[in-house]
Amino acid sequence: MNKFCLQCDDGTKLKLQTKNVTVEVRGESCVVPKVTGWHCPVCGDIEYTDKDSSDRVWEAIEALGEKAKARDAVLLAHARKRLKLTQKQAAELTGGGHNAFSRYERGEAVPMRAVVNLFKILDKHPELVKELV
Ligand SMILES: [Zn+2]
Repeated sequence: MNKFCLQCDDGTKLKLQTKNVTVEVRGESCVVPKVTGWHCPVCGDIEYTDKDSSDRVWEAIEALGEKAKARDAVLLAHARKRLKLTQKQAAELTGGGHNAFSRYERGEAVPMRAVVNLFKILDKHPELVKELV
């Protein structure tokens, strides 16, 4: 039986196999062992054949999302304090509402990558904050 990748959508054939799959979410990654399904050798998409494999991959994705959110919360709080900005001032720089930073730092909201990247740069080059206000 031939199955074709719906993501690639160019006739790439899927392979029915059980293999370890690396899952990546916002810079955090892990390996989910022995995932059974139709695997795309090009884009890595998987058409699952059993609920156990799809459940384990989904649980890994959720856990990585939580890990990334906690990591970003610490990074943003650390950088903001080093820059001597209040949460309100930091939110004014990045948009997203006056309490956006408080929500990021408590892990209640996921910041856009651009916000995290900006504060990574400002943490290394704090003098640049003057360019923004
Ligand atoms: Zn594919």
